[in-house]
Amino acid sequence: MFLVHLFLVLAGPLVGSFIGLLAIRWPEGEPWVARRSVCRSCERQLRWWELLPLLSWLALRGKCRQCGASIPWIHPACEMGGLLVALSAWAFAPEGTILLSCLFGWTLLALAAIDLRSFILPDPLNLLAALLGVAMVWWTRPDAWAEHLIGAAVGYLILFSVEITYRLMRGRDGLGRGDAKLFGVLGLWVGWTRLPDILLIASVSGLLAAILASRVAGDDLKSTTAIAFGPWLALAGWIAWLTGPLLVSGL
Ligand SMILES: [Zn+2]
Repeated sequence: MFLVHLFLVLAGPLVGSFIGLLAIRWPEGEPWVARRSVCRSCERQLRWWELLPLLSWLALRGKCRQCGASIPWIHPACEMGGLLVALSAWAFAPEGTILLSCLFGWTLLALAAIDLRSFILPDPLNLLAALLGVAMVWWTRPDAWAEHLIGAAVGYLILFSVEITYRLMRGRDGLGRGDAKLFGVLGLWVGWTRLPDILLIASVSGLLAAILASRVAGDDLKSTTAIAFGPWLALAGWIAWLTGPLLVSGL
């Protein structure tokens, strides 16, 4: 098993590098495979040694070798994220789920990265995370279908009703439908008992990040400030999956 774990950790930054490309190309409708990587500022084709996850970014000090344009932060962030998913899965994933956990974590990372940049949570990625969840329950806890299916339904319905209520009361969109789908997927993975944990961690971390971001930008946080909730849901879901029932639901 050690070799499998090691392989996943080495694959992490590479998968993260692919996720970074996805986050930039998907929302623009560009083909995200079968195209050489170029600097988006000077269009120069990048050499293989400029595409090594994390190492190239460090060696190039975050800038294009030719035009000096900053390499978008999403690249090193996703490469680091891909590595952290593999390392945290190695340390904390429930017995016998390391591979499915990594695939789940990387899918969450892709959802988070795309939502952060473009405020969308693509359906195909939510579906992929759901299918991985079905495989996980099927193989590792076939006697707990009820808990996980109820989690999926309740998770979806909670954020769906928040979305509808907000629209009725404020006359504009607060949450996207993708958030409800993602919360349903997370409920499928962790079961309905852990949904309060996820909501608490996601709300607190999302709010802190929004306050921090508005401080850095130098203006006040307004009720109309657009905040992507998906990344915080994804992070909270990942934490809930890797920890036992220690938080709200364990009290
Ligand atoms: Zn350049």
